Amino acid sequence: MKGIECSVLANKEKRLDGQQENALIEAATAVRERAYVPYSGFAVGAALLDEAGQIVGGCNVENVSYGLSSCAERNAIFAAVGQGARRVVAVAVVTGAETPTPPCGACRQVLLEFAANDDMDVVMATTAGARRTTHLSALLPESFASFKPDNPR
Ligand SMILES: [Zn+2]
Repeated sequence: MKGIECSVLANKEKRLDGQQENALIEAATAVRERAYVPYSGFAVGAALLDEAGQIVGGCNVENVSYGLSSCAERNAIFAAVGQGARRVVAVAVVTGAETPTPPCGACRQVLLEFAANDDMDVVMATTAGARRTTHLSALLPESFASFKPDNPR
């Protein structure tokens, strides 16, 4: 798929403006270049925007013991937390796949932990310019967010 495509779920307000979305994709594309993927060759870059306006990136890092590999999205979250972020507004994920790649299930759960107001924009883009935007709540419905329903995180 070529060109820029952007769709948003009708029942959710998009939080990012076009400039922020482009900046996130640019950051994710840049950090993707540093991905360590000698086994799969599938380089992924992720960039987060927190409530303070900070952008933090992460790339996937593989290991010869495959199960120890870690996704770009989780690496970005862990780096952002170390830099003081607690509430993430949006994440961009960039791959070289033919179509935009959504975060895996494990990353969706980790993203939810730091989602501002329990949701975030998820922008998926390819290096060829395809783009899809959705929300974490659409990717992870009926999620596990707290074991204390009366005392949310
Ligand atoms: Zn993942």
